[in-house]
Amino acid sequence: SQPILQVEHLKKYFPAGGRKVLRAVDDVSFSVQEGEILGIVGESGCGKTTCGRTAIGLYSKTDGVSLYRGEDIHRMRGAKRRAFCCQVQTVFQDPYASLDPKNKVIDLIAEGMDIHHLYTSQAERREKVQALMEQVGLNPSGIDRYPYEFSGGMRQRIGIARALAVEPRLLLCDEPISALDVSIQAQIVNLLLDLREQKSLTYLLISHDLSMVRHLSDRILVMYLGEVVEESTAQELYTHPLHPYTKALIAAIPIPDPKVERARPRSVLQGQVPSPVDPPSGCRFAGRCPYATDRCRMEKPALCDMGGGHRVACHLCR
Ligand code: SF4
Repeated sequence: SQPILQVEHLKKYFPAGGRKVLRAVDDVSFSVQEGEILGIVGESGCGKTTCGRTAIGLYSKTDGVSLYRGEDIHRMRGAKRRAFCCQVQTVFQDPYASLDPKNKVIDLIAEGMDIHHLYTSQAERREKVQALMEQVGLNPSGIDRYPYEFSGGMRQRIGIARALAVEPRLLLCDEPISALDVSIQAQIVNLLLDLREQKSLTYLLISHDLSMVRHLSDRILVMYLGEVVEESTAQELYTHPLHPYTKALIAAIPIPDPKVERARPRSVLQGQVPSPVDPPSGCRFAGRCPYATDRCRMEKPALCDMGGGHRVACHLCR
């Protein structure tokens, strides 16, 4: 069936002074099926947030195409654009920064409904907001309170209710739990899973937190320096990672049991993601890869299909 989101050869470059170009997203292709959760993972600076935001049209693109149910997102205008703006919503990382502190909860949650005229009376507006608060696990009696009166987890619930208010089909969740206390992260993950089930939602989930992504995603893309280096189902990726970068990311996931932690080899991942300004022409991971050869530095590895939808870009895996 037709994917809800199809991204082909998407590029997003930024000028970086003189002739230099920052290649934040460099020829990325993927698709998301209706009802699916696709995770995009990588360290900070790998391009995952820019990729997600460009894919849903929050940023203009440099090249390539991004289709929502077959329609070019970056060319949508008029009524089509307005409908798309309801159907695709974003849940941001920092719920406090994304909520205007001067607005009451009712006005924060209803903002999208106000813009798109989704009620016929003030009473209906209030009822809809109360119902949304219940859906996300907030007590509707707090409808006239201000965001500072809520904890971080509750503010993220407000952020989710705000996104749900316009009845979206696809949610871009950009690091939805990383600003929250560890103790309440699992609650938000479970809420996102429950809402997906109840409302048949589709998520594009951006995160550096591989253990959270594993718990939530059906399929995962691993990005490094603007490119996809591996793609697979979540199950396959965590049990049979192929790319040295993915292996290092998975090896670095903390294990809660301290005895297990001690017995485990240290992560091979050293240093940080290099600058995406004028990246090297060969494998972009070569500078940090323990298996790099001269070939890796000269020749870019193509993203190859290993069967079962598992794709990997590494000379070692061919
Ligand atoms: Fe490492 Fe070479 Fe594979 Fe790149 S292509 S990940 S440098 S082995």
